[in-house]
Parts: sequence; C-alpha cells; structure tokens
Amino acid sequence: MLSNILSETELSAFKHMTEKARHVLLTCHVSPDGDALGAMLSCLQFLQRKGKKVTAVTPNIFPDFLKWLPCSEEVMIFEKQPEEVKSALSDVDLVMCLDFNDLKRLDIFSETVKGLQAPKIMLDHHPNPSNEFELAISYPEMCATCELLFRLFIQTDSLDNISEQEATCLYTGMMTDTGCFSYNSNRSEIYMSIAALLSKGIDKDKIYRQIYYNYPVGRFQLMGYLLYVKMKAFSKFRTALMTLTYEEQKRFAFKKGDTEGFVNIPLQIKGNKLSIFLRENPENGTIRVSLRSVDDFPCNKMAEEFFNGGGHLNAAGGVLECDMEKAERVVDEALKKYAPLLSNE
Ligand code: 5GP
Ligand code: MN
Repeated sequence: MLSNILSETELSAFKHMTEKARHVLLTCHVSPDGDALGAMLSCLQFLQRKGKKVTAVTPNIFPDFLKWLPCSEEVMIFEKQPEEVKSALSDVDLVMCLDFNDLKRLDIFSETVKGLQAPKIMLDHHPNPSNEFELAISYPEMCATCELLFRLFIQTDSLDNISEQEATCLYTGMMTDTGCFSYNSNRSEIYMSIAALLSKGIDKDKIYRQIYYNYPVGRFQLMGYLLYVKMKAFSKFRTALMTLTYEEQKRFAFKKGDTEGFVNIPLQIKGNKLSIFLRENPENGTIRVSLRSVDDFPCNKMAEEFFNGGGHLNAAGGVLECDMEKAERVVDEALKKYAPLLSNE
C-alpha cells in the first residue's frame, strides 16, 4: 500500500488553509506542459467537489495537444484576457501554485499574483523552492507534481472519491514528465499509483495517443529539417545542439507545442549525455533554452550557471537575451566548462 507522504504538520496546514478558503486561484508555470496543466485540472476538480469556487489561470496559452484534457475549457489565459482575469480574482482568498518553485516562473502573470493578499500554497517537485509561499509542499523525489497531488488527494481524502476525469489528468502529468516512464521513473511507488489510477477506469493507452498521436503534419516536416539540416553533434562533448530561428518557425508555420519533445531525440545517439535546443522566441526577442541529459549530468546546474534558468537534474531550461549567434557561443562556453563531466577522454 502507498504510505502517507505528507508530514502531520503539512497535512494539517493544507487542510486548515483549504477548508477555510471560499475562492481558490490555481495557477502553474508559463508555457504549461502536461504536468502543469494536469495538476491544475485535477486540483480544479478536487476543489470543486469540495464545494469551492475555483479560478484556474495559466500565464499564457497551452499547446493544442493538451486541449482534450477534462475541464481545460474552464482555464483562463492571462495573456489573452488580463483584465478579465484580474477582475475574476478580486475575492480570491487562497492561491495554489502548481509545478513551479518560484513566482518568477509565472512570467507576465507574476506581478498580479504577488499583489494578491491571499496566502499561497506551493505544490511542486522542483528542487530549491523560494520562500515566497505561506506553505511550501515540495517533494523533489516525485516524478511529477501530479504524482504529489495524487498522494495528497488520497491522504487528505480517499481514493474512492477520485473521479476517472481527475485520474486522467493525474496520469497525464506523470506520463509526460517522465517521457512515458523512460526517465526519472524508477521508484516502485509510481507504479502503485498508476495501478490505483487504472482502478478508476482511466484509458492509459488512449491518453498516450491523445498526447503523442495528435500533432499537425508540420511538426514532422520541422523535425526532419532540424535533424537533417540543423543538428550539430559535438562528439567530443557527447552533446548535440539544435537551433531554430524565427525565420525557420515562419517557414514551417510553427505553433506553440510543435517542437515539444524534440530536445529528447538526440539523446538516442549512442553515447550522448546532453542535448541542447535553442529557439528564438518571436514574442520577446529572447532565446528559449532547453536541456536534457542522461545519467548524472546536471542540466539544472548548467541552466542556472549559463542560461538564467533551472529545473531538474535531467531536464532544465532557461532564457538568453541575445541573438542566436551569441547564444551558440554561450553553449560553447558551457560545454567547455562542463567538459570534465561530458567528455569521455
Ligand atoms: P523545457 O525544456 O520543457 O522548457 O523545460 C524543462 C524543465 O526545465 C521544466 O519542467 C522546468 O522544470 C525547467 N525550466 C524550464 N525553463 C525554466 C526557466 O526559465 N527557469 C527555471 N527555473 N526552470 C525552467
Ligand atoms: Mn513537472
């Protein structure tokens, strides 16, 4: 059986704060992924069945391949309707921050959330949370925030009360944050949780198809182009780099989410330890950086040191305020600095 993970202090603080609340704001990190959105939508349903008024807000849009998730139509997008969101939050008396550890990760929504009087609970699995939250429930060993929420839901309430739709959202977050259980997924408790979620009637094979067999054709043309024309393999550093400019995004009619997962592909090259993906962000003229690694190479340390970011050991990201040429030079410096952990000489 799954043991209780939350300490008595955490559990009673969580219960006290949620029981008292009437209107809860749920939010997650900018550019939500399957875990961020799955966490938000499962929490939305959990709180609604407790009779709470819930407003769920993402800082910006989420990709089309997540739109089938139950209740996603209830989400408000700050970037699209900032004034409507601000007025919807006037009587919020509790904020729940999901799948991020620092209010900066809310990007354009962060000032609005910081300005709210309501106490904030953070529920997350990233290391080193900031101290901006009244209650920080941080479990970096969890494979996903959705796994943490599942454990929280069964500890505060009961598996019996979890609906199939909530279970679908929770499973989606666990599946997407582990690359379909191919990394960061060796704890046996993950599979005990999945067994419990299956007992709620979820169709895990269909969830897989809805996420991974749900892309526009342009994604595959772009993937072919990136791998054939753009990928640079630095065998000395056991690293591959792919870059995508704004001009190329226009050429392939790029939409948010089209490059999801691309950064993982070069890790399939024999011996590779690290993959880096740089993408020009036309919205603000910056370069988005994604890092993925295998084994013990610390993507999060490299992201903090060179790319103004952070994340997990094997998956991290950041941002550079420069052009692509300069960004490639930063990558070059980072690889040289981390050469002792990368090269096999
Ligand atoms: P992705 O490459 O999918 O954008 O991000 C991978 C992981 O890196 C995310 O789940 C998140 O944990 C972390 N991450 C991405 N971008 C940032 C960033 O700008 N700052 C921080 N602190 N973490 C990030
Ligand atoms: Mn996550």
